[in-house]
Amino acid sequence: MEIYPRIEIDINKIKHNTQVLVGLAKESNINITGITKVFCGLKEIAHAMVAGGVTMLGDSRVENIKKLESIDIKKLFLRLPMISQAMEIVKYTDISLNSEISTIKALGEAALKLNKVHSIILMIDLGDLREGVLIKDALKTVEAILKIEGIKLIGLGTNLTCYGGVIPQKDNLEILVDINKKIESKFNISLSIVSGGNSSSLYLLEKKEIPSRINNLRLGEAIVLGRETAFGNRISNTYEDAFILKAEIIELKEKPSVPTGTLGVNAFGEKPNFEDKGIRKRAILAIGRQDISVEDIAPKDSKVGIIGASSDHLIVDITDCSHKYTVGDKLDFTINYGSLLKIMSSEYVYKKFIK
Ligand SMILES: *Cc1c(COP(=O)(O)O)cnc(C)c1O
Repeated sequence: MEIYPRIEIDINKIKHNTQVLVGLAKESNINITGITKVFCGLKEIAHAMVAGGVTMLGDSRVENIKKLESIDIKKLFLRLPMISQAMEIVKYTDISLNSEISTIKALGEAALKLNKVHSIILMIDLGDLREGVLIKDALKTVEAILKIEGIKLIGLGTNLTCYGGVIPQKDNLEILVDINKKIESKFNISLSIVSGGNSSSLYLLEKKEIPSRINNLRLGEAIVLGRETAFGNRISNTYEDAFILKAEIIELKEKPSVPTGTLGVNAFGEKPNFEDKGIRKRAILAIGRQDISVEDIAPKDSKVGIIGASSDHLIVDITDCSHKYTVGDKLDFTINYGSLLKIMSSEYVYKKFIK
């Protein structure tokens, strides 16, 4: 049976993208952690990242990391752990990113109970204002961490661009390297990982401007969609279409372009605007806002125009298409991060692997 809507996932394209990025990073002595959260930790895709040369896998949800248990590679927990999940974090992951002493203590207690040592990377906030200790608090935090049993501090990390939109640059990454140096000399320890961010740090890699002490990047979007995220540029020699969305036409009619009757708000409390373009040929597809965000998909047939969507219906204008579509036909879309996240999380979109 052919099931729609579906997302077709080209495993070889993911592997290729990983190889290109791992190769680029290697020139600067940087390892890549493959981030699996946007595809909910699906094992088939994670395997492609491993085959492409990542040295770790990382995810922000324990549910996803559990799916990767059988893959023999180190697992990094990305979101700051919840104290309530300390046991599971220690059980299923090797390393977690942290910024709170009380949480690190809980992880230490869990590790002792499980007869393990849990490794952590201390996150430093370089100004993006999401997670991490402020620069001025780094040394005293390390001092406290080093006293906690069951915990091994193995590195420093930072996360930029995700919240505040702060772009990684040579100067803010140099601050991370500088803190690392101070910590190593003050406490006479050596840290094995200095993790310089996510897909927004890639443009620096291409320019060879990442400070040399940084030896790890955590890449999700760049691998799956072939795009860096500081400026939204394509990465050369990578595929942007490893994921293709296909949705089926369930109605196709000529209708006016402006609704008839008194206009209130739509199902989402918005007041839509309509431009009168006369009678247009419109198709309804069986997919909606429960599965995608409308701004984050692009029809492969460039003559298809997206009109709008409700929870379960996507309305498109096909008046200008040269292809003669009929009810039952499928339309293809490339997608970007926002929609990929929704599609992979939606149980209503069938996941089809192309090998
Ligand atoms: C999601 C995430 C990443 C990966 O981000 P991309 O932009 O997909 O590369 C890296 N680090 C942390 C802490 C994250 O939450």
